[in-house]
Amino acid sequence: MAANETPVKKNEQVHVTFEDLTHDGAGVAKLDGYPIFVPRALPGEQGEIKVIKVKKNYAIGRLIELTEESEERVEPPCPIFKNCGGCQIQHLSYEAQLEHKRKHVEGVLRRIGKLDNVTVHPTLGMEDPWRYRNKAQVPVGERNGDIIAGFYAKRSHEIVDMPNCIIQHEESDHTVQLIKDLAKKYGIRAYDEEKHRGTLRHIVTRHGKNTGELMVVLVTRGKELPNKKNIIQDIRDNLPHVKSIVQNINPKKTNVIFGDKTEVLWGEEVIYDRIGDVKFAISARSFYQVNPDQTKVLYDKALEYANLTGHETVIDAYCGIGTISLFLAQKAKHVYGVEIVPEAISDAKNNARLNDLTNAEFAVGEAEKVMPWWYAQGVRPDVIVVDPPRKGCDETLLETIVNMKPERVVYVSCNPATLARDLKYLAEHGFETKEVQPVDMFPQTMHVECVAEVVRKGN
Ligand code: SAH
Repeated sequence: MAANETPVKKNEQVHVTFEDLTHDGAGVAKLDGYPIFVPRALPGEQGEIKVIKVKKNYAIGRLIELTEESEERVEPPCPIFKNCGGCQIQHLSYEAQLEHKRKHVEGVLRRIGKLDNVTVHPTLGMEDPWRYRNKAQVPVGERNGDIIAGFYAKRSHEIVDMPNCIIQHEESDHTVQLIKDLAKKYGIRAYDEEKHRGTLRHIVTRHGKNTGELMVVLVTRGKELPNKKNIIQDIRDNLPHVKSIVQNINPKKTNVIFGDKTEVLWGEEVIYDRIGDVKFAISARSFYQVNPDQTKVLYDKALEYANLTGHETVIDAYCGIGTISLFLAQKAKHVYGVEIVPEAISDAKNNARLNDLTNAEFAVGEAEKVMPWWYAQGVRPDVIVVDPPRKGCDETLLETIVNMKPERVVYVSCNPATLARDLKYLAEHGFETKEVQPVDMFPQTMHVECVAEVVRKGN
């Protein structure tokens, strides 16, 4: 084969064996090391495919026929699974999903992190891996004059109308359906992304799994919401658990769901939920883990790895509304939390008061700026917990961790690739990763959350 030639041509039909899954759940087959991605194929399967797109470094194929089916293949229970971009692996048995995630983490730690000898435990999964999400963010659109709402189709911005979603709490389904009906009843137009016209952009619901409380957020393009009073009354009449009805205004041409302005239309500004013994107030825009049962599992693991005796000073970086901070504060001497979203920090402070925890303090700002400042002020934590967004920790933050010389670092991560990169940095600067525990926060999807136990060498 010439250097610039690919092993397959467009429209060619080939027989392949699938070895792996991509991050969006497509099967990966390799020909002379050249990957071909084929939606809905599973590792261990073989089949006839037609090549539909050829690029220099990869091709995309369409499955024509499976000649060898995986024993782990199951019938996806959701009728719109094929088109909807929300879940990726409903066609893989739950046991196999958990093992795939464990292996994926192990492989990434080895490849990117150069961490060959770290134990990656079996993924902690759910007994019932359905209906677990406490939050739905559903874009609204129109088709043939009718209001539709649902997730985007895979790799597109086309809305797949969704009568229900079996990874979400039932109450979210009822809410979305009700708001669709109310939009029709009161003539509220859906937002049109292309023309930047219309009113209703997103329906967001949040549900306190352990309190039953419900928040409904209507994200609109402008301040105007026709028939506001009637809509509020209808929501209250139809959703008895609703505690908070909120309008968020997002006038921008953007993919970002929320705008800067939030107005309470009725009820409270927040809803409450509990994780373990800690109660949390959650406002419309604050980050709160979407799977409350597994959050408890995750935080218990983080607490175990923090190994607290009651005498420790702890930093919780990227603390959100202080969830991990307050979990740790029950067992530590003092906890510092830092987070970039001001509303989240205001929730965190309220949450500390709500739980009578006086040994936690919170700062708004970029963790990579606040941590060096704390260091300069003489703060010397025994344990540092980090729970960054997908892009991982900023290098300045890792440098500050190294300078602070904590005994332990607990790294909570939603992206194994950046986790591996950051653990490598820590390994090069005197810290050893002892073990990694994947926790399945997002069953039926390719996402995997991990907690890593890291200790300073020579302790
Ligand atoms: N530990 C929390 C939140 C984790 S999500 C929980 O378990 O609920 C990551 C959080 O990091 C988000 O709340 C996000 O707003 C925040 N964040 C993102 N970039 C940041 C930065 N540079 N500094 C501080 N916080 C940041």
